[in-house]
Amino acid sequence: MLRHFGVDADEIVPLPGEFDRNYHVVAGDDVYILKISPPDADVDEISLQHAVLQHLQLHPGRLATPRAVEALNGMELLEVSDGIARLLAYIDGAPYADAGLDAEQAYELGAGLGDLVNRLAGFRHPTAGRYHPWNALNALDTVAARRHHVLDRRHQDVLDEAVDYITTHERALWDLPHQIIHGDANDLNVLLTDGRVTGLIDFGDTVHSVRIAELAVGCTYAMFDAVDPVTIGAAVVRGWRSTTDLTNAEAEALLPLIVARLATSVTVAASRRDDGNPHNQVSERSAWDLLERLMAGDRDAIAVELATGTPPLMTERSELLARRAEYLGSALSLSYDEPIHMVRGLGAHLYDARGADFLDCVNNVCHVGHSHPKVVEAASRQWATLNTNTRYLHPAVLDYAERLAALCPPGLDVVYLVNSGSEANELALRMARTATGARDVVVFADGYHGNTSAMVDISGYKFDGPGGAGKPEWVHVVDTPIEGRSVGWADHVAERVPSSGVAALFAESIIGCGGQIVPEAGVLDTLYRAVRETGGVVVADEVQTGFGRVGSHWWSFELHDVVPDIVTMGKPMGNGHPLGAVVTTRAIAEAFDNGMEYFNTFGGNPVSAAVGLAVLDVIEEEGLRQNAVEVGSYLVDRLRAIEDDRIVDVRGAGLFLGIQLVDAATTKAVVEYAKADHVLLSIDGPAHDVIKIKPPLVFTNEDADRLVDAVTYALATTGTARFGPT
Ligand code: PMP
Repeated sequence: MLRHFGVDADEIVPLPGEFDRNYHVVAGDDVYILKISPPDADVDEISLQHAVLQHLQLHPGRLATPRAVEALNGMELLEVSDGIARLLAYIDGAPYADAGLDAEQAYELGAGLGDLVNRLAGFRHPTAGRYHPWNALNALDTVAARRHHVLDRRHQDVLDEAVDYITTHERALWDLPHQIIHGDANDLNVLLTDGRVTGLIDFGDTVHSVRIAELAVGCTYAMFDAVDPVTIGAAVVRGWRSTTDLTNAEAEALLPLIVARLATSVTVAASRRDDGNPHNQVSERSAWDLLERLMAGDRDAIAVELATGTPPLMTERSELLARRAEYLGSALSLSYDEPIHMVRGLGAHLYDARGADFLDCVNNVCHVGHSHPKVVEAASRQWATLNTNTRYLHPAVLDYAERLAALCPPGLDVVYLVNSGSEANELALRMARTATGARDVVVFADGYHGNTSAMVDISGYKFDGPGGAGKPEWVHVVDTPIEGRSVGWADHVAERVPSSGVAALFAESIIGCGGQIVPEAGVLDTLYRAVRETGGVVVADEVQTGFGRVGSHWWSFELHDVVPDIVTMGKPMGNGHPLGAVVTTRAIAEAFDNGMEYFNTFGGNPVSAAVGLAVLDVIEEEGLRQNAVEVGSYLVDRLRAIEDDRIVDVRGAGLFLGIQLVDAATTKAVVEYAKADHVLLSIDGPAHDVIKIKPPLVFTNEDADRLVDAVTYALATTGTARFGPT
């Protein structure tokens, strides 16, 4: 059979195994483990194990894990006459079962397991959700079904006390972050090489569970037979915290989960007493000893001791927070209850200081993907050559202006380059006022146009929000056109747009900060006409929605069959490099040139132009508009298929989407839970009840699946009256 794997064995020695027949195979310098599962083995389960092993090979980290060897026919599982065969490359190391762990090794174990859950964070597999008796979440069932095998009276009492303790904490477990974990980092599966914790084997218990159960299992066996088990357990926890998060809620669950593991272990061992496996008996005795010690001790004190210690990562984060408080203005906000320290971005993914992968569904700025090599290259090359301003001749700015104008409808031909969306809108306001001689502005109630004084004045999102001073008298507000608002719209507009004349309408064509509101057919047209009738011009704010985000068109105003007089652009233009633009008609541009020079130190510099050109190239070369159409509609379909009456609406266009939920509390909880699942989302809308989805356009269907799973799971966890926060 080994020849199917291309292996010519010199030596094959049988090894003990619970379900599988295992063999130690030596072939020249290579060593393997051949596993033959019985013919009735669950293939889904084996394929889960293989998928995990493969995922971990692709995401290497601190702990080595076995590599699955492909057979010559390209398969990794081979059906043979007496079962299912698979070959794993042997990894060095010996289990620590006999020697135990010292504090340093315990720390390494914790660090390795923390790193492991980070590596597994994005991994999904349909079989992982199966019922598994060793899953910590099923401990009470597992124990209840086997308690009658425990015959010793003292043991029965300890077990009953353990069950009471687990029961008190069980409910809280369901609210903790869940993911796929190894689930069985016991003393036979954790390997040491030269005294260092280096490997982890046996993925047979891999399961979707609370992530903190990974730590709890690791702690449990490390504490076996230790002189001071809690010190060793605390060392494992410190190690864990050096590589991954430990929230307060998770820390509180730790001791109950250790007790749950012990109770599971002793009752399963009792039920299998006749197996005759000597290790089971040693391990059973150690487990009873530890369980008795923990139940007899001051549990609150033990729980605190386990979870304390100043972990390096927490220090780093708290140090960053402290320095931020000292040097940055406090009006700047941070995302999430526990802010994330990001260090790297690639495509639609961000990586935090521990290397954990997050799916970025928020960043519409890194439009063609974080750190896109073509954009980085264009910037570096131009930066290494020349960076000046528009007072010198340079082709890059002309090439870029020409490309931008060509992407806009005919008549929108003249380009001014600036450095942000706010600056673009600010310039558009000056242009509109100069061109019309009027001062007033019409806006949507929940619009947002930027952070400068004038932009705050015309942004309901700000002037009506916290700290806002209300609208100035020169600003006229029309309702945000939520669904159904088109009824009576013309009258409403006539009432709000002053006949005395306005300089401009500023309108997003999908109102982003207002909650991803897509105006109904005709709404924008009516508004455009009303403003133009008074002599005003129309500014389409495409800062969030431009550059193909809506997929079917380059600009979101095109969804509405209208043509503005000025288009403002920003955010995605430079893929993170500060870049904005105003594109307008020749007539307005000429009117604006009233003798006062427009100079912008950075606007239109060659580096920015090179970056902007590279972004346009990538959108076109990689077909990103089409991707936004396809992945966007796949995502909308999947989101709409979630059966949960707390979802009020799923809306948007391309990859500019919103999920409106029933209230702000649910929305915040879902976003926090999704973050625990390493999926980043943001919230907007006047009632803070809309989850915004606007990822880099390189988003894939797999990313969409991961997002939908996270939202579904977050909803279930936020869930019912039974488990959800009130
Ligand atoms: N307009 C819209 C529609 C925006 O969403 C934003 C930013 N959120 C701006 C303008 C301002 O852009 P910036 O923050 O780049 O100045």
